[in-house]
Amino acid sequence: QQINAPDNLESLLKRVHEQAQKLSEGVVANYIPALAEVNPDQCALTVATLDGQITSQGDSQTQFSIQSISKVFGLMLAMERVGDDLWQRVQMEPSGQPFNSIVQLEWEKGIPRNPMINAGAILVSDVLVSHYSASKSAVLSMVRNLCGDDHVQADNRVHQSELEHGSRNSALAYLMKSFGNIEADVTEVLDHYFWQCSLTMSTEGLARSLAFLANRGTCPFSGKRITSHREAQRINALMSTSGMYDQSGHFAFTVGLPAKSGVGGGIVAIVPDYGVIAAWSPPLNSYGNSVRGMEMIRKVATELGLSVY
Ligand code: GLU
Repeated sequence: QQINAPDNLESLLKRVHEQAQKLSEGVVANYIPALAEVNPDQCALTVATLDGQITSQGDSQTQFSIQSISKVFGLMLAMERVGDDLWQRVQMEPSGQPFNSIVQLEWEKGIPRNPMINAGAILVSDVLVSHYSASKSAVLSMVRNLCGDDHVQADNRVHQSELEHGSRNSALAYLMKSFGNIEADVTEVLDHYFWQCSLTMSTEGLARSLAFLANRGTCPFSGKRITSHREAQRINALMSTSGMYDQSGHFAFTVGLPAKSGVGGGIVAIVPDYGVIAAWSPPLNSYGNSVRGMEMIRKVATELGLSVY
């Protein structure tokens, strides 16, 4: 792959960030008050490269609700804990449906399409709750280690609001339970899932945490092996096919990178053997993807020739 080395990455990011700030489309997630109140003007862009450089523009140190990006962290831990048995209980196929869709789950007898949609991440939460005596601490210490920041934490208000507005996710969990695909107590599984969604991080923290996915499983900052190369490739594959909700095909077509997005407005894109692009801005398009975030990542990827295809 031929990557165009930019003369000046900082000025590229500055230009891309400035242009993105002018975009006015999109609506901030409003299914819970704690997210609806977030200032929509915030906008951050970070590129972390495998030589250990981090270059950012905008609100790159502001902590935001990572929401579905947490599905990657949960998945990593479950893959490590139960290995290939996981794939008996969740598939690896794109869903072609919204992230919180329930219909396929009944057709497919309680086996979620993939771990990047809500049903799949709830299944993964069941694995964690069933295999760890303190599943939240296990996730938290993994994320803190990856990020190199002991201050990463969950936002209690978001966690509580998610629990209060969690009917649809409860429905997904109970449907899976009815098919025998949830082992632990549903309330505990949902509590773990919502807690994980409420983790707060910055684009810099996310870029640092997930850089191992661009580096064949080894964190380029600490030099520590996080996963095998094969597991990193598998996580990237799932992000490529399912990480951008029901716009994953569009994202592959226009950007060409494994990525995971969350309704807090964050998106993390992995550029194998190069680095990570993390973007955040709260207004979302109708699929639940950050309008400015997608545009910033598309521009950086296009200008630098980063598509993996
Ligand atoms: N907490 C959200 C939910 O479960 C996560 C949505 C997301 O970021 O995709 O509905």
